[in-house]
Amino acid sequence: MMAYNKAVPLSVSMDSESIKKRIKELGANEVGIGDVSVGIAPEFSHMPRAIALAIKHPHLPEQENPTYPYIHFSLTIDRRLLEIQRVITGVIRRQGWRALPIPPDSCRHDSTFIARLFKLFPHKTAATCAGLGWVGKSGLLISKRFGPLLSWATILTNAPLQVEAKPVRQSFCGCCRRCVEACPAGAIEDKNWRYVSSYRTIINVERCVGELQKNKERYGVYACGICMLVCPQGRNWKMHGSTDYV
Ligand code: SF4
Ligand code: SF4
Repeated sequence: MMAYNKAVPLSVSMDSESIKKRIKELGANEVGIGDVSVGIAPEFSHMPRAIALAIKHPHLPEQENPTYPYIHFSLTIDRRLLEIQRVITGVIRRQGWRALPIPPDSCRHDSTFIARLFKLFPHKTAATCAGLGWVGKSGLLISKRFGPLLSWATILTNAPLQVEAKPVRQSFCGCCRRCVEACPAGAIEDKNWRYVSSYRTIINVERCVGELQKNKERYGVYACGICMLVCPQGRNWKMHGSTDYV
């Protein structure tokens, strides 16, 4: 049984379905609630629930520029995610619970305090604990419904939100190697993720960073979308609307 912070009123109930419905009304395509109490950094141990939310990317035409996904829609989507976080953290806090928004990835390079939290709590942890997907060989979160074509944000909270979905603890990439073969830096190690895997066992971070740096010089953007664009899991929802793997 989870021990919630005694400074907040335990009598106030929070309805997970209402919170998820509100998040979808605000524009999210994926939302789930996970128990992240196991293995969480001590800085967050007083907030054992995570709300994972994501917005899907639009259909993309084939492009030579691998930074295209980041130039053309990432910031717009992330602004919407920030707005949803602002509304929902307000709802939770008004009921007397704590809520900490971990912002989307485009804020990763900010010099703000919140940007430093990325290293302590990745969105992938929230999404896998909420049963929304797995970590692909590419190191990207692969949603059951939309593949890697999503931008993610997280809200940590001590509100007693009900967790309904089972966490995802293993990869469903199987024998697919599309991202391994497409990566121009040879940075993807061709290893299937498991819950206990560290990021560095599946991605050679130095090689990937080297490629991002090259793109910064070529295109002016420190990014690379190749492993996102080649993933067949992302294509499934484009063609068929949704998938169901787990
Ligand atoms: S972002 Fe680019 S360089 Fe990095 S792993 Fe993916 S394909 Fe390779
Ligand atoms: S391209 Fe294939 S191996 Fe890579 S993340 Fe997608 S499904 Fe997994």
